[in-house]
Amino acid sequence: MPSLIRALRQLLLVAWLGLLLVAAAPAQAAFTLPPLPYPAEALEPQIDTRTMEIHHDRHHAGYVAQLNAALAQRDDLAGLSLEQLLARGRRLPEAVRNNAGGHWNHSQFWTAMAPAGDGGTPSEELLAAIKASFGSLEALQDRFSQVAAARFGSGWAWLILRPDGTLAVTSTANQDNPLMNQPGIERGTPLLGLDVWEHAYYLGYQNRRADYIAAWWSLVNWDQVNQRYAEALSPASAGPPALSPRTPDAGR
Ligand code: MN
Repeated sequence: MPSLIRALRQLLLVAWLGLLLVAAAPAQAAFTLPPLPYPAEALEPQIDTRTMEIHHDRHHAGYVAQLNAALAQRDDLAGLSLEQLLARGRRLPEAVRNNAGGHWNHSQFWTAMAPAGDGGTPSEELLAAIKASFGSLEALQDRFSQVAAARFGSGWAWLILRPDGTLAVTSTANQDNPLMNQPGIERGTPLLGLDVWEHAYYLGYQNRRADYIAAWWSLVNWDQVNQRYAEALSPASAGPPALSPRTPDAGR
């Protein structure tokens, strides 16, 4: 009965393909390292090529690899976006929190910079918000630089949009960020974040963090910051869940 044999063979083929699919499918799509949006030498002389290479290709790559490794142990976190992971803050295993933060923070850092002269200027809307919250762009820069310099040890300085629409300058330790539901962190939408870990500047500046901060201002990609501000204000934006009233607060 050739038709029965044919049916059996088809059944076997389907079962075999099914097994292949199950074996090939990872528990969760792995996070990947985004490429630098410019050549590693593009930010010279403010940030040297070697620092950019080590920072992106080793440090950021390391956070991505360790995040994927940590998530492989946690089926309950499978399928969550990076922002959804961050919103869990203190309820995350430490390895997930540190490396998810490291991945998100560095991803925003590369795109928040551009070769000096290429980054544009604050939009009319952003400048109005800066003036309302700080008085002037210079006052914001002074405040931000002061907070970045004062961060003890490793961490980040941030310009954030608060849920009430005002802007604020904040700082987080290690790889924490303002999207995390974490005691001691003022939550908001990050518009601009500066890495003040020594790995970000030590080759070029050694212990002179203030010089690195001063030089970094000429690299800020205001066009990107303008876009983040506009997206954060847009009701249609699928922005970070940190500002959503439906953010799960269980465990608080
Ligand atoms: Mn870094």
